[in-house]
Amino acid sequence: MRTALVTGASRGIGNAIACQLAADGFRVIVNYYASQKEAEALVSELNARYPVGCAALRADVSDRGQVEKMFSAAGEIDVLVNNAGIAQQKLFTDITEQDWDRMFDVDVKGIFHCCQCALPYMIHQKRGKIINISSMWGQVGASCEVHYSAAKAAVIGLTKALAKEVGPSGIQVNCVAPGVIQTEMNARLDEDTISELKEETPLGVIGAAEDIAAAVSFLAGEKSGFITGQVLGVNGGMII
Ligand code: NAP
Repeated sequence: MRTALVTGASRGIGNAIACQLAADGFRVIVNYYASQKEAEALVSELNARYPVGCAALRADVSDRGQVEKMFSAAGEIDVLVNNAGIAQQKLFTDITEQDWDRMFDVDVKGIFHCCQCALPYMIHQKRGKIINISSMWGQVGASCEVHYSAAKAAVIGLTKALAKEVGPSGIQVNCVAPGVIQTEMNARLDEDTISELKEETPLGVIGAAEDIAAAVSFLAGEKSGFITGQVLGVNGGMII
C-alpha cells in the first residue's frame, strides 16, 4: 500500500485532499498544527471507512525539528502533498518584517523542509510524487497580499526547479494553483465580495475544496505519469 502525507490536512482543502487520497487507496498521514481535534476526527472517519491505518501527526511545517520527527514517525512516503499555508491581507506598507518572515517560513520554507525529508526515500525508490499547493495569486499577484503572492510565486519556482533536478530520479513535482475556494481562509469575504468574485469567474461559481482534491488525486495517480514541473490552475477560468 502506498502512503501519502498531506500537510495542513486538519481543515479546508487539505482535509478534502486527505479524504480523496484515502478513497483512492492511499494510507494517509494527516499533518496538523493547531487543530488537533479536527485532525483526529478526520483520521477516525478515514479509518472507519478505509481500514488502511491512517494517522494524524502534529508538526509546524516551518520548524525543521518538528518536520523531521513527523517524517520519522510517518515512515516511507510515496506521495507528499505540501498544502499547509497561511494567508494575510494587509497594505504592503503595513506588512511587518515578522509578518513577512512568518509567511515565507510556513508557505515556502515548510515545503523546503518537507521535500528534503521526503526525498531520500523517493530517490532510493526511483519513484515518488510531490504536489505543492500554490495559488492563482502567485501567478498574477493580489493587491494587499504582496507577501502571500510572493510566497506562492516562490512555490511555483521551487516546483519547476525541483522537477528538473529530481526528474532523472523518477520523481514528479507538480503544483496546483487554486482560485477562490470556499474555506476558512476566505471566511472574511462578505456576500457582496463573493458575488463579485463569481461574476469575474467565467464558470460563475466559487470553487470547493473537493475541486482541488480532484486535481491532486489526478497528479498523485498513475494517469499523470508524464507530467512534471507543471502548474495546474483550478480556478473556474478566473486566470487563463
Ligand atoms: P485553511 O482552511 O486556513 O487551512 C489551512 C491549513 O494549513 C490548516 O489545516 C492548518 O492546520 C494548516 N497550517 C497552517 N499553518 C501551519 C503550520 N505552520 N504547520 C502545519 N500546518 C499548518 O486554508 P485552505 O483554504 O484550506 O488552504 C490550503 C492551501 O491552499 C494553502 O496553502 C492556501 O494558501 C492554498 N490556497 C487556498 C485558497 C482558498 O481560496 N482557500 C486559494 C488559493 C490557495 P491547523 O489548523 O492544524 O493549524
